[in-house]
Amino acid sequence: MAENKRDYYEVLGVGRGASEEEIKKAYKKLARKYHPDMNPGDKTAEEKFKEVNEANEVLSDPQKKARYDQFGFAGVDPTYGAGSAGGGAYGGAYGGGMDFDFGDLGDLFGSFFGGGFGGSARSNSNAPQRGESLRTSVNITFEEACFGCEKEVIIERVETCDACKGTGCEPGTTAEVCPDCGGRGMIQQRHQTPLGFMSSSSPCPRCGGRGKIVHSPCRACGGRGTARKRKTLKVSIPAGIDNGQTISLRSQGNAGRNGGPAGDLLIVIAVRPHDIFRREGTSILCEAPITFAQATLGAELEIPTIDGKVKYSIPEGTQSGTTFRLKGKGVPGIGGRARGDQYVTVYIETPRNLTKEQKTALRKFSELLGEKNYEQSKSFFGKFKK
Ligand SMILES: [Zn+2]
Ligand SMILES: [Zn+2]
Repeated sequence: MAENKRDYYEVLGVGRGASEEEIKKAYKKLARKYHPDMNPGDKTAEEKFKEVNEANEVLSDPQKKARYDQFGFAGVDPTYGAGSAGGGAYGGAYGGGMDFDFGDLGDLFGSFFGGGFGGSARSNSNAPQRGESLRTSVNITFEEACFGCEKEVIIERVETCDACKGTGCEPGTTAEVCPDCGGRGMIQQRHQTPLGFMSSSSPCPRCGGRGKIVHSPCRACGGRGTARKRKTLKVSIPAGIDNGQTISLRSQGNAGRNGGPAGDLLIVIAVRPHDIFRREGTSILCEAPITFAQATLGAELEIPTIDGKVKYSIPEGTQSGTTFRLKGKGVPGIGGRARGDQYVTVYIETPRNLTKEQKTALRKFSELLGEKNYEQSKSFFGKFKK
């Protein structure tokens, strides 16, 4: 409170006629003596530190100093002495100023300058971090995609070192908690600015931000705690998977750091195209050539499916381009959903390289046919005649 306020010169322990240099020197000495980092948890030191800073703010500023010399506290703080509330307002105003010093502004400045401190290094390299996810691809056949399969994939990933279990210390030894940063990995630096003291964090130079010091690094991993390893994994690919789909194997990616979880392994499925089948969702599509005679007379065809050959009878007078459905001969739905169908589109293969004899026979046969045998020709060309 106002009554208890000590004269600023008294606070700094200098005479009224002290020079700028003397004030600065006195302030530096006292600020160091009462600095909170030097006196953790000491309330008296904290109060003294505030008092010293307040005195310095006024006495190091020629204009404020002149007003203080002339009018006392009232010259540098208009709320001073304004009734009983004055002390509170005074304390509040300066309290706010001091909060800069210890609180959020330090972090704020730290993040402004984050780039300068090395970006990610600032985000506490001591904290658990998830390992990176890895991506690979697997080639499978059309049938393997339909029915599912097991494949082996070979990946290279970062694993926790077996020898040191990730600690980075040679087995039988332990790391020392960094004495400079107390294991936090970050140290606070204080700077004087026109607004008062500011603090900023930066990675501890002694431990490189790790918070610990390893005296005998693990020989197997060179102290990194991790090792790159080639790994063969069995992957179970579900029936019904389609080209371009991804299987995610949880925690099979790179190992995490500082006890963080491992990343995932993403496996992209590449399905090789089939000679005769195409796929649309769970449907299988194919085209089947038939002869003029089969189309005309009807026939029993042997249609290839992914289950093997299946007999299918086409009726007399089947037109080219007709599509038949083979129920349940498509792709199994992924996750146990219903199996699709196969669609077979027939087309008439026109015979080539006929002999004289064959041509003569065909001409004879053709002459025997009339308009009633060709409904489509009749309606299509007939319209032009009218
Ligand atoms: Zn190791
Ligand atoms: Zn350190």
